[in-house]
Amino acid sequence: MRLDKFLSNLKYGSRTDIKKICKAKRISVNDKIITDSSYDIDENSDKVYIDDELVFFKRNITLMVNKPQNYVCSNIDEQYPSLLNLLPIELQRFDFSFAGRLDYDTEGLVIITTDGDLVHRIITPKKDIYKTYYVKSLKKLKNTEVLCNGIEILDGKNNPFITEKAYVELISDDEMYLSIKEGKFHQVKRMLEYIDNEVVFLKRVKIGNLSLGDLKLGEYREINEDEIFN
Ligand code: URA
Repeated sequence: MRLDKFLSNLKYGSRTDIKKICKAKRISVNDKIITDSSYDIDENSDKVYIDDELVFFKRNITLMVNKPQNYVCSNIDEQYPSLLNLLPIELQRFDFSFAGRLDYDTEGLVIITTDGDLVHRIITPKKDIYKTYYVKSLKKLKNTEVLCNGIEILDGKNNPFITEKAYVELISDDEMYLSIKEGKFHQVKRMLEYIDNEVVFLKRVKIGNLSLGDLKLGEYREINEDEIFN
């Protein structure tokens, strides 16, 4: 790959910016100063430095993040900061996609990845990858069994849809784990409304076989896709 493309993909600046940095002799590849920004590199093995900083690169990178409330699953800051702000700068340079978003007021497990195919395999209901939520409700939980076999609620575009098979595990009068395959907008909140209740606290604790475990709020770690599917 061309050096200028490699570095601009990693958000070090436009190709024109990279050209200037090269001309200023600030870039080296395998210890050799490179002044031509069209220079071809092997991005998987070459060691590229800007000044004294080694440029971190991996073809694909997948992370799990324990999302705190008041962060958004979006690449840009909106009313609340993007979840990506929790990552160090060398990781913020990658183009991450969210494998299932959480609302700003929902906590818990979010998988972010540069691998578009992996996003699809996690979020598609066809693949049977259940997402488990800890739900605290406003009122005593009743009729939770109706959630398990498909109910009609509205999706993000306010079109009706029937939920897939879900699983409920009651924890107390007003707490349960709810496992669902899809991730429609406000799905858990809307499922609780269907049984005449309301979510007061929501946390995603598991996606496929990957549990939040002891990852602290606001922390992240790199994962291997086998941790989700096996
Ligand atoms: N369901 C919701 O209602 N909100 C979330 O953030 C995730 C699932």
